[in-house]
Amino acid sequence: MTITVDDAGSGDLLFGMVIGAYRDEPQAFCYDVIDVRYFQTDLFRKKEYLTQTTFIVNQLLNRLQPKPEEEIHVCQGYIFDEAVEELRKTYGERIQRVRVVGEPQRLVEIAYLDEIRNLGYEPLPERDEKRAKNFFHMMRWLKENPSMIKYAKTGWPRLSRYRMFKPYQQKNEKGKFTALCTDCGKECSVPFKPDGTRPVYCKACWAKKKAKR
Ligand SMILES: [Zn+2]
Repeated sequence: MTITVDDAGSGDLLFGMVIGAYRDEPQAFCYDVIDVRYFQTDLFRKKEYLTQTTFIVNQLLNRLQPKPEEEIHVCQGYIFDEAVEELRKTYGERIQRVRVVGEPQRLVEIAYLDEIRNLGYEPLPERDEKRAKNFFHMMRWLKENPSMIKYAKTGWPRLSRYRMFKPYQQKNEKGKFTALCTDCGKECSVPFKPDGTRPVYCKACWAKKKAKR
């Protein structure tokens, strides 16, 4: 009897990340999502997704209620480093880092694929073997569906080399940053670099806020 914890989507441009927990006997699976905003703006630089991962892993384990003798296997990915440190305080030696394969990996991947399909994106069948091709396939889809950029991990520093992501990371000629309105999700420009915690409003939503006050 083992519970295995794995993630999917952390290296993918689209959507946030899925974390799943799988018990082999009797079979059970549950998962939750780390919102894409943790991979955008300064929130990504602050690595808040690590804290969020710890929180979600704890929740998933609470749902599965580990038995006293049950081992808990956690994926080796660095994203779980902080979570594992926390878990060891409760579960001690029962926590093991593993390379996750088989059923748990398959189920977490399916959960992630469902989420990106819900956005209207159809993943490449060979996405696992062809990481670079997969990245450009997602990027091309974003070019065709510019309103979906709010579901992209725009906080990745390496995206600054692509024109479509640049405005989310760097000032334009007018000294402004591009951001997505917290209320309506529309693109707008703001004079400060969004830190991911303070809300950002477009002109229309800001006017509405002011009128309400
Ligand atoms: Zn707005």
